[in-house]
Amino acid sequence: MTIAYLGLGANLGDARQTLKDAVVCLAQQHTITVLAKSSVYRTAPIDSSGDDYFNCVVKLETSLPARSLLRLCHHIELQFGRERPYRNAPRTLDLDILLYGASSIDEADLVVPHPRMTERAFVLVPLVELEPDLILPQRGRADAFIETVADQRIEKVATCQCMVAAQRDSDATATPSTKTDCR
Ligand code: ADP
Ligand code: MG
Repeated sequence: MTIAYLGLGANLGDARQTLKDAVVCLAQQHTITVLAKSSVYRTAPIDSSGDDYFNCVVKLETSLPARSLLRLCHHIELQFGRERPYRNAPRTLDLDILLYGASSIDEADLVVPHPRMTERAFVLVPLVELEPDLILPQRGRADAFIETVADQRIEKVATCQCMVAAQRDSDATATPSTKTDCR
């Protein structure tokens, strides 16, 4: 089992609801236990365009190898209507692997820790909310980077954690066959 952190973002459609649904979807996977979810934040698009984003970070425990976790993230993104018309386009749902245990991975289609995570308030703020003393592999304390992104607009819009706990309870009764097709 490995502890991983995912960054969730959305700015197309009902983005706020999508984040909630995506966390439920993650929690329904039999290979994943969602341990915690940050508050939801409204943020200015960074390197992107369109409406404001909604973002959060999820801490999970998984039996999946990192590559399989990435595949699952892409699968869930597709279920939520993700399209990639051009780089950094607005998106219905983005799921990024921020950290996968203490692993450093540098492959063509998977880089962990996520290479841009220390440049983005929409990652750092929810991540540090979940783990105030988090140490990033080879980069030191996560909270030390927050002052470097202080110019990026970010506003907390919801602090509710109840859904994760509720989902964990209902998970006990979910049938495995429905777990990957959660929409
Ligand atoms: P963004 O970089 O804005 O999240 P995409 O979601 O379209 O853009 O991802 C582009 C590619 O980034 C994916 O096809 C994926 O293979 C690659 N990638 C590399 N490292 C990671 C990671 N840690 N988490 C998610 N995707 C990653
Ligand atoms: Mg992505």
